[in-house]
Amino acid sequence: MDYVEEIRKMKLQKNAIILAHYYQVGEIQDLADFVGDSLALSQKAASTDAEIILFAGVRFMAETAKILSPHKKVLLPDIEAGCSLADSCSEEDFRKFIKDNPGRTVVTYINTNIEIKALSDIICTSSNASEIIRSLPPDEKILFAPDRNLGNYILNKTGRDMVIWNGTCHIHEEFSLEAILQLKSEHPEAKVIVHPECELPVRMVADYIGSTAGMLRFTENDAGRVFIVATEAGIIHQMKKINPEKEFIPAPPRDSTCGCSECNFMKLVTVEKIFRCLRDEEPEILIDEKILEQAGKPIGRMMELSRKIGL
Ligand code: SF4
Repeated sequence: MDYVEEIRKMKLQKNAIILAHYYQVGEIQDLADFVGDSLALSQKAASTDAEIILFAGVRFMAETAKILSPHKKVLLPDIEAGCSLADSCSEEDFRKFIKDNPGRTVVTYINTNIEIKALSDIICTSSNASEIIRSLPPDEKILFAPDRNLGNYILNKTGRDMVIWNGTCHIHEEFSLEAILQLKSEHPEAKVIVHPECELPVRMVADYIGSTAGMLRFTENDAGRVFIVATEAGIIHQMKKINPEKEFIPAPPRDSTCGCSECNFMKLVTVEKIFRCLRDEEPEILIDEKILEQAGKPIGRMMELSRKIGL
């Protein structure tokens, strides 16, 4: 069966759209209506009149799409597609963390499960985290979760009073500084571009640090011809599409038996699973209305602050 063709037909019949995160395989990115990072995709989906949103990504992303489009049907092709970073922060432990650090504004990165969003004051993304925190009064004490590397990156940039949850993404933590330096010596002209979820030693050798969307923009606007890319390798598909004349080298992980850095959760989604998911309209993201409403508030606060500071 030609799954791609069948998916295209079903999308029209069912008034559905497909969102693909940058970390999906190229084939899925190419069949999607929109490709991007998690918040931008959810915002895009909310602005359309589609009745069904199929999110080719991981669970917290589909939950975010549901928060922004509560009356639409949101589908996730593999319900087991979790996230090691989001899952490092359980509701019970996070409640305790907040209780142990009273009087702090709870700022959480969008890579959290919905129960954590519902406990937050403000959500941020890797694109806007520093600006959102800078926009708060200088004496405001902050509790940041769940990524400790992103948290420390923001702390260094803003100098704010922050306590940081000790969570990490297993992909971004695994890049090998030694292997990146080796690549740099083989390609001295290459620029190293790094996601802020990476550890400090890797961030220290970066020519650019930013979100996936920011990294993509950098490769487009920068005069460099060769880039060593320290984030999930799926983004390289878009980088090559936009810059066919440039060269992109995935930063190697510490485990040298694998030449790439691919998120096993993201890669649970396949074209065949998208076909079945759209055909059967399941697995569907179903969330208690109260939690949905509660989790929407800190996202609304982020959007309000973003408008105020002109992001
Ligand atoms: S790459 Fe890391 S942060 Fe992104 S979905 Fe996979 S485990 Fe989560």
